[in-house]
Amino acid sequence: MKNIYHNFSNYKIINKHISKNIDLHIFLLCKNYQKDLQNISKLFHISKFPKKIFDDFHGEKGDMITHYLDQTKLLFIGYGKNKNCDPQSLYEIFLQLGKSLSNTNQNILIHLLNDDDEYIIHHQISGFITGYYKFDFLKSNHKTKILKNSIYFYTPKRKVIPYIEKYTQLSLIQNEVRNYMNLPSNLLRIKDYISFMKQNLPKNVSIQVISKKMLQKLGMNLLLAVNQGSNQDCALVVLTYKKNVKKSDQPICFIGKGVMFDSGGYDIKIRSMLDMKYDMSSSAIVYGIIKSHATLQSNGHYIGLLPLVENMIGKDAIRPSDVIISHSGKSVEITNTDAEGRLVIADCMSYSKKFNPKLLIDIGTLAGDTAHMFANKSSVIMGNHYKYNKEIIEIGKKYHEKIWELPMWEEYLEDIESDVADVRNSGKSNMAGSIIVGAFLSHFVPKDKKGEEIQWVHLDIAGMEVVKGSSLYHNGGKVETLKTLCEFTKDL
Ligand SMILES: [Zn+2]
Repeated sequence: MKNIYHNFSNYKIINKHISKNIDLHIFLLCKNYQKDLQNISKLFHISKFPKKIFDDFHGEKGDMITHYLDQTKLLFIGYGKNKNCDPQSLYEIFLQLGKSLSNTNQNILIHLLNDDDEYIIHHQISGFITGYYKFDFLKSNHKTKILKNSIYFYTPKRKVIPYIEKYTQLSLIQNEVRNYMNLPSNLLRIKDYISFMKQNLPKNVSIQVISKKMLQKLGMNLLLAVNQGSNQDCALVVLTYKKNVKKSDQPICFIGKGVMFDSGGYDIKIRSMLDMKYDMSSSAIVYGIIKSHATLQSNGHYIGLLPLVENMIGKDAIRPSDVIISHSGKSVEITNTDAEGRLVIADCMSYSKKFNPKLLIDIGTLAGDTAHMFANKSSVIMGNHYKYNKEIIEIGKKYHEKIWELPMWEEYLEDIESDVADVRNSGKSNMAGSIIVGAFLSHFVPKDKKGEEIQWVHLDIAGMEVVKGSSLYHNGGKVETLKTLCEFTKDL
């Protein structure tokens, strides 16, 4: 993030082992590590390591020893079995490693596991870079400790270098997304957010900002209604990236909830609002997805819609029982002003019709029930396309992103029937909160030119966007579903 955040160390990928200017070498060893140890001693031109330093090291997960060769420190980490190593454990080892080294100014060389598998590379690279990330630049002593060190990822295998490059880029984008999430709402106002995006997007992404005035002309009244209590102007940001597409190719359209702060409105939150700056996380994730496709030069046509609003109270704020005519023409009774994310997404869903998308994917931090149901361990997925949901869940497993499918049964639609309008924005029963969001949004799925519903996937990441007191991450924003959705929509 230009002008505001500089704490990214230099990541370098090398194919030849170096020792000069390296302060710390890191090696992973499995249970049968003797042969690896011989190879390592050759790298440092020593006949062998003193046997006694490995007395308590068995290559098991959790084993760790350090050894000094002159000024250079060698760190050996055990990870258990060699082949079929447990991906989750490997990822966690690297997250922890990154986290524990994030204050050092040393040059570090990480000897990657000698494996061809793309995901084994991902566990190591993504684990380290996301564990290493820390949001501390608002502390006054930050300037004195801006890191200028380099981190080298070393592999002797040339053919895995593209994977290392890919996951370095994706993880750095993920960290940029976390910066937006972690910035407090007074420092990331809607206009600041837009200007950061403009500064940080690659040239092959176009950005269009639809102003409040234009939104009024377009009749995006649900989006506008949510923002009525705020002293900031709302906006809809449209990001577009395409490569190698024919005129007839339809885009994939993402919608990311961008509620910059959610007080709940007049249905004010009775629990702490401290985490409500994270209610724009999904918009930042959609920004990250579009930037990732553009950076990796994916083939295809991708559109990101980022509705940016703030849900506050004030003389102009919406009231419970207000009825709003949505962009789609359907009337919505506001039965809960804190159920605002689905309102802004609904208007964007109907607006997306103009792009004639082949697939619509919406992401939001939507229902508190999602967080409670899984104790912040999983996102939920719904939609009108069973096969896509399954595919996304499977890809998620490779990226340590847990996603669970919920049903879209007709009965839930009855729960949001309104006496005065076409639909209410919260359920009468006050139950099944996560499903009710999906049921509500199902009213706003646009139809294609043949009059059929556009394929639609709905993701609720509530509870997954922020982490506290973890041994794997520093406190703050944690990006979910970005890598999964990039992989899923690549060449789709
Ligand atoms: Zn809310």
